[in-house]
Amino acid sequence: MVEGLIKAGEFQRVCRGDRLTYDIIVIGSGPAGLTAAVYATRGNLSTLVIAGSQYGGQLMLTTEVENYPGFPSGVQGPELMDLMIKQAERFDAQFIYDDVSRVDFGGRPFRVYTGEKEHLGRSVIISTGASARWLGLESEEKLRGRGVSSCATCDGHFFKDKDVLVVGGGDSAMEEALFLSRLVNRVRVIHRRDKLRASKIMQERAFKNPKIDFLWDSVVVDVLGGEKVEGARVRNVKTGEEKDLACDGVFIAIGHEPNTGIFKNQLEMDKKGYIKVWDHTRSSVEGIFVAGDVHDYRYRQAVTAAGFGCMAAMDAEKWLEAQD
Ligand code: NAP
Repeated sequence: MVEGLIKAGEFQRVCRGDRLTYDIIVIGSGPAGLTAAVYATRGNLSTLVIAGSQYGGQLMLTTEVENYPGFPSGVQGPELMDLMIKQAERFDAQFIYDDVSRVDFGGRPFRVYTGEKEHLGRSVIISTGASARWLGLESEEKLRGRGVSSCATCDGHFFKDKDVLVVGGGDSAMEEALFLSRLVNRVRVIHRRDKLRASKIMQERAFKNPKIDFLWDSVVVDVLGGEKVEGARVRNVKTGEEKDLACDGVFIAIGHEPNTGIFKNQLEMDKKGYIKVWDHTRSSVEGIFVAGDVHDYRYRQAVTAAGFGCMAAMDAEKWLEAQD
């Protein structure tokens, strides 16, 4: 065993030192990171979770979650994340509620910094997630969770038989519109150009759907409503004409951005900045594993992220065993 290595259960005795090495450092505290922490600690691996100054990931921005298994009456997003943290703490995961300022994966042990403070890990699981892109309107922020959403799968159910708008012209927007069409009365897609970016097959499905129609060359300039969404002001970018559309929900589907800025020049990424993986959870650097939305732009669900967290911890455990 490496000298100064922390074993699970020994934290109270040895964790106060500055230059001890954890078996696993988990970066990020959404469902992927916290599930990784539960699996790692239950595997008797000393685990440090660097949770971020805004812990909990995207579920902290959601209200009711109805599709996470095990909660037949639903659960509030923040409550679910608090439960996951408690579960990881129960097995002695250590938490730091700060942001990672930089990493050095050039040699082992790996080095992860919060401010100037250095943390050492024999392996690292990256689960920093992705953030939904927003339009950047004040009214959009005010009404988030009150009719403004970035996730139809999470929130669509609250708009049964109502009228909603979907903003965007990519695959995500088409997917959101198609999903919503099964629940709501009418979906209007607002797109800033007169051509979609989405794949042909998704376009065809959306065009064929009688509940979906399109407003081209248009952008949302304001979301209307006091306590909840009542409509949106839309501007035609060619004519400058503005009109107010009544609706109960506005779904913003203009893409996501993976939270990978701190890993630039350390790990291989695709051209959109998602971390590339091999063999399910391995990154381009041996000993660094990846879980959740930071590499998965396809499913992007809390439960799939949790699944990836479990996989990454199991893979890290096997890899660590082979190093001993
Ligand atoms: P995307 O392909 O980047 O599309 C974003 C859309 O939002 C574009 O139509 C863009 O308009 C529009 N947009 C961006 N910023 C905007 C703004 N500020 N105001 C108004 N509109 C704005 O993102 P995505 O749809 O999330 O897809 C990301 C990746 O995941 C893609 O590779 C996609 O194929 C993949 N994906 C696949 C599936 C599937 O296969 N089922 C589902 C979801 C996502 P412009 O067109 O004018 O740029």
